[in-house]
Amino acid sequence: MRFFEGQDVVAFISDKSMDFQPTDFDAPLLLKQREYLKKECSLDVPFVFWRKQVHGDDVLVAKDSPRSASGCPDADAYVTCQSNLPLAIRTADCVPILFFDPVKHAIGVAHAGWKGTHKEIALKTIERMKNVFGSKPEDIQVVLGPSIQPCCYQVGEEFRQYFPNEIIERAGKLYVDITKSNYKQLLKAGIKKENIKNTGICTCCNPKYFSFRRDAEKSGRMISLMVLL
Ligand SMILES: [Zn+2]
Repeated sequence: MRFFEGQDVVAFISDKSMDFQPTDFDAPLLLKQREYLKKECSLDVPFVFWRKQVHGDDVLVAKDSPRSASGCPDADAYVTCQSNLPLAIRTADCVPILFFDPVKHAIGVAHAGWKGTHKEIALKTIERMKNVFGSKPEDIQVVLGPSIQPCCYQVGEEFRQYFPNEIIERAGKLYVDITKSNYKQLLKAGIKKENIKNTGICTCCNPKYFSFRRDAEKSGRMISLMVLL
């Protein structure tokens, strides 16, 4: 799925047709992954800036080249204002969030599982874009990509304390809507409603996507990739 088309950015979220689960974060992408991205994005991406995702709330500022990621700590969100520096995260149920500021020419990607959502990683990514690039929230466009939705995201009682306003009770079971929590963070940060695209796709009940909840250890990972042109 491509987003922000016609602007000077490539923003892409893959589906199940290619697995982007890396074994080595410092290695180049596999040839078959590069070929796939060439076809989908018309872009050759030998390396991406990414680290091990740890369900935290650190936001890294990417600089120089994608290979500079090798010296960086583990983190779940990356921002840059540099052209030709591809940023990427992987998901299989967690919420991939894409940020694009066409005015300051800056981008960000964030991986928000329930822990990152609870730690407000979306809000913190926007704060970072404000502080580092001078971005204004009203200029930033955001995508909430495919992730597990409340139709499938059954959780335990302890989630009432983490997401008191995003819990749904159905037939004596609890479900949580973490996309909604992220959406609220975006509004709180000053993002305009009309600049938020929520795909609303559930990875767990849509067989086109990888889902950890559905496939457990057999699940691959989708890539969310952004590159400023
Ligand atoms: Zn579902």
